[in-house]
Amino acid sequence: MSDDLNNLYRDILMEHYKFPRGRKKLEHADIHNEGQNPSCGDELEMELQLDGDKIKDIYVSCVGCAVSVASGSMLADTIKGKTLAEVKKIAAVIRGMLKGEDVPDNIDLGDLESLRGVKKFPVRIKCALLSWTTLIDALAAREQGAEIRTSTTE
Ligand code: ZN
Repeated sequence: MSDDLNNLYRDILMEHYKFPRGRKKLEHADIHNEGQNPSCGDELEMELQLDGDKIKDIYVSCVGCAVSVASGSMLADTIKGKTLAEVKKIAAVIRGMLKGEDVPDNIDLGDLESLRGVKKFPVRIKCALLSWTTLIDALAAREQGAEIRTSTTE
């Protein structure tokens, strides 16, 4: 990867860290989950408001390192307005990307592209995954009608 690309990724990431999206508390939440990444100390709270099978609104509050906060902000940006099926697909692609798998050509990642650089830093992968794991667990628990415990990337 070229230095220019690395710098671009870092700039996008830092912008999300400084101005995280999705910080406005929802008046009505259909889904709530919390996540933590003990290896770094990142903690995250997430609420989703649904409209049928679409994500109408999302609240993400992450207290942690730049990677976890930025990843949560990008998640909020990306999944708002999408269907649950689309959201699950994107989450699977992001998980795969962080494990070094190829991203399918027909997927437009937008700012999430900047998380590509994280896979070179194994201790940061869990930070980048925290918001996605919290989301996936929340959606899976809802489908199963189960109680959710706090999600963890450990
Ligand atoms: Zn972290």
